[in-house]
Amino acid sequence: MADFGIKEALAQLGLKDINNGTSTGSVNFANGEVIESYSPVDGKLIGKVVASTREDYNKVMDVATTAFKEWRAMPAPQRGEIVRQFGNKLRELKEPLGKLVSYEMGKSYQEGLGEVQEMIDICDFAVGLSRQLNGQVIPSERPGHVMREQWHPLGVVGIISAFNFPVAVWSWNTALAWICGNVCVWKGSEKAPLCSVACQNIIAEVLKANDLPEGISCIVNGDYKVGEYITEDTRIPLVSATGSTRMGRIVGAKVAERFGKSLLELGGNNAIIITPTADLKVVVPGAVFGAVGTCGQRCTSTRRLIIHESVYDKVRDAIVGAYGQIKIGNPLDENNHVGPLIDKDSVNTYLAAIEKAKAEGGKVLVEGGVLEGEGYESGCYVKPAIIEAENHYEIVQHETFAPILYLMKYSGDVENAIELQNGVAQGLSSSIMTSEMKEAEKFLSFAGSDCGIANVNIGTSGAEIGGAFGGEKETGGGRESGSDAWKVYMRRQTNTVNYSDELPLAQGIKFDL
Ligand code: NAD
Repeated sequence: MADFGIKEALAQLGLKDINNGTSTGSVNFANGEVIESYSPVDGKLIGKVVASTREDYNKVMDVATTAFKEWRAMPAPQRGEIVRQFGNKLRELKEPLGKLVSYEMGKSYQEGLGEVQEMIDICDFAVGLSRQLNGQVIPSERPGHVMREQWHPLGVVGIISAFNFPVAVWSWNTALAWICGNVCVWKGSEKAPLCSVACQNIIAEVLKANDLPEGISCIVNGDYKVGEYITEDTRIPLVSATGSTRMGRIVGAKVAERFGKSLLELGGNNAIIITPTADLKVVVPGAVFGAVGTCGQRCTSTRRLIIHESVYDKVRDAIVGAYGQIKIGNPLDENNHVGPLIDKDSVNTYLAAIEKAKAEGGKVLVEGGVLEGEGYESGCYVKPAIIEAENHYEIVQHETFAPILYLMKYSGDVENAIELQNGVAQGLSSSIMTSEMKEAEKFLSFAGSDCGIANVNIGTSGAEIGGAFGGEKETGGGRESGSDAWKVYMRRQTNTVNYSDELPLAQGIKFDL
């Protein structure tokens, strides 16, 4: 089988057969178990990463804590300059890193490149922001007084990330955390550990070239137990955790117990409402890319289509027809649309979900199943499925991280569709397809979608970094990336300064001595 330039990409990213998974740059401490990273693309071993022990982790924290003292003293625009250089390095290495993402995680090469582009974009955003970490000046009620607000760095930010965006999610957090004056300790997913080593190699080179402490960026590796070192650690004031709702429930509680802050980016159950005036030219690619892109493994993947009964048959037939065009295979081959699921556990979850949907009364419109034979040796390639279902089915209420799309009807007004759309426990992304201004505005109003992301005439997936990203309810409530998401990486301080010769008390309280 063609190599698609993987060997060369690994070499360009400084990856070896065995890699140190606990790193502050040149200083590596890994003494834990060995994680073998197998590609879901062809089932081959890509490389090994030595995971972190508790002692390794503590050494990393010492280096990071020391680095913080120097980094926070550097003016924010100078920190931005380092992020700018990091963004440029990513431009140089976009192709090899995009290839690694595709090969280790299984998304299409185009989506791998897109993920690195997001990293570049957030770096650019962070560079500009490094001159805009503005506080406010607030009128004081007391004469000769001034009140203002400042934003200070927090310290060591812990980042725990999921397998499906193995590089971008880290950069959304870290680029902002850095310009805010924090240092970062990142535990990537144990399902894509080489991606974290590759990113660490890139930033370590930038820090070294600038003669900066390498503890500004650190990685640790391993499963949830290594994640727990971070969540339990009182030296970490903010834990940003991306992953399943199951994980977020545990992490959120652990961090809250010690009064730490957490930024939770958890599962979604995203729907598109398709109204009678929806434009099929937009609906079909929007819904199909949303449902099958990244093999249904985006937090924003489209899981449900809520279609008005008057256009149901037409929309269903168009979507089912489009599924017939989908090419499934090696994601590095740009002729294919859909790559594999991440591993066989995920394949089993996908199969079980289809069975459950059928048992609850679902009618299969496009059959799922596991692909076998040449090119599918890893056992992780599945067929995207479409099932006619009802919103209240247990299985529909849960996020299955696989390409299963549920179709359901609504009748009457758009309010009925909005009720179905909101009638799940998650609240990440949502969209409406309509040419009616009133329907669109209702969907975006306080009585409309209850999600963190609500779109009109585009699908649920594929957010830009300029907006705040995240969702409500079981999606965790966190926001990262654009807008004013930077504020979560800083602590707010209110200052009142008296430049008069008197000491008037607030609220006019008298205290005469
Ligand atoms: P996962 O929850 O299995 O793992 C995510 C990360 O959390 C991993 O690094 C894992 O080691 C760590 N972890 C798990 N349990 C932990 C614990 N008790 N303490 C500390 N760390 C722990 O998720 P996954 O399978 O890698 O990713 C898929 C999930 O991520 C989906 O639910 C998807 O919707 C979600 N996701 C959400 C967003 C978002 O922005 N909302 C983005 C990407 C993925």
